Amino acid sequence: MAVDFMQSFVEKNRQLNSHHVNIKFIQADVLKLGLPEKSFDIIFTNWLLMYMSDEEVQTFFINCLRWLKEDGYLFFRESCYHQSGNVKRTVNPTRYRSPLEYTGALHMAMVQSEKGIPGRFGYEITISKPVDTYIKYKSNYNQICWLAQKVHQSEPFSSSSKTFQEFLDQQQYSRNGILRYEKIFGRHFISTGGLDTTKEFVNMLELRPKQKVLDVGSGIGGSAFYMAKSYDVNVLGIDLSYNMVSIAWERMREIQDNRVKFLVADATKMSIPAESFDVVYSRDTILHIPDKAALFDRFITWLRPGGKLLISDYCCGDGKHSEEFKNYVKQRGYILYSIPEYGKILEKVGFVNVKAEDRTSLFIEVLSKELKKMETVKDEFLQAFAQTDYDDIVNGWKDKQVRCGQGDQKWGLFYAEKPV
Ligand code: SAM
Repeated sequence: MAVDFMQSFVEKNRQLNSHHVNIKFIQADVLKLGLPEKSFDIIFTNWLLMYMSDEEVQTFFINCLRWLKEDGYLFFRESCYHQSGNVKRTVNPTRYRSPLEYTGALHMAMVQSEKGIPGRFGYEITISKPVDTYIKYKSNYNQICWLAQKVHQSEPFSSSSKTFQEFLDQQQYSRNGILRYEKIFGRHFISTGGLDTTKEFVNMLELRPKQKVLDVGSGIGGSAFYMAKSYDVNVLGIDLSYNMVSIAWERMREIQDNRVKFLVADATKMSIPAESFDVVYSRDTILHIPDKAALFDRFITWLRPGGKLLISDYCCGDGKHSEEFKNYVKQRGYILYSIPEYGKILEKVGFVNVKAEDRTSLFIEVLSKELKKMETVKDEFLQAFAQTDYDDIVNGWKDKQVRCGQGDQKWGLFYAEKPV
């Protein structure tokens, strides 16, 4: 069999060379292959890793890091299973892994920089998503592809995480962290007020059927599902946290709405063609992003003329801040501006009709409602989570009430338009 393949490769090479096409096929075991270092711009593989053991996948990712040029890309697509739903299976020789297992292995892979240069090379995930064609024709959300870039990592993001993405996934947005937050915010939501504030804010956008909406930091999908179902719009949700998007993909299998798509991507780096969206929408996400002007610049480019922007976000008060507040912001890694400052940044990048509203009183009202709800669902909550999870949430919410009461913490709602 292998010899037959080999002969057909030799024949293919001969044909291609005679047409001056620079393609070569070789028969080799990819795990034993010795290719020159830094010699490829792109490495592409389709349905290969599911035939490898965990150790072999790790070796393959490390080998690819060696073979890729700096900033080169590794693309792979695999059949996966999702954590809720279909059960992990191993059908000899095929291994079905969760998307998180591949992502974890990508993050683990690294090679040292050359002598004298500090740091190392690792992968940064540019995009990860289910294959659209499988969703469209087979309602199958298990075919996942990744595009990862070889990048130089001079310093790890923190003592426990190499990158910001790892920081999000390992700290604030661990799978358990997300699911316990969801209990207080409401099903499919990880932001203040859940469905209620979503209904109120989305209403301001006067969405029309078939419009295209970009949900930046879409979390586990609540707003995207709501907008598609209620307004018949198409929503692309992007989020940097693999844990968040994995749960959104699981929910898609339940909700089955092809107007909604989610992908793992960094809003500060992802490339999106200009004028692709009628609306850019973002809930309580931009607090994580340092350079807000650069991000808003991207938003204005992605919007069509006359397109609308709606953001809710954590902000800070104008005055001096308490030590407790400064510590909270530092520990979370948030970058907060006052509401008027935020509005000015939007104007500076070219948005018009900018409205910067202080919605802190609504925030405080919602916090009280959510705390009451926690009391009523306590028994059910404790069946799925630990007492410490319950206490963390309740104390965290009470702390937010105190910070808002002292004028340290604010909640801003921002509406703006791209000039026609
Ligand atoms: N908007 C969702 C909701 O309302 O349920 C989730 C809000 S959650 C508080 C903030 C989200 O921002 C997280 O899912 C986080 O992963 C995402 N995020 C942070 N930095 C990001 C970035 N650079 N690009 C895309 N998403 C990001």
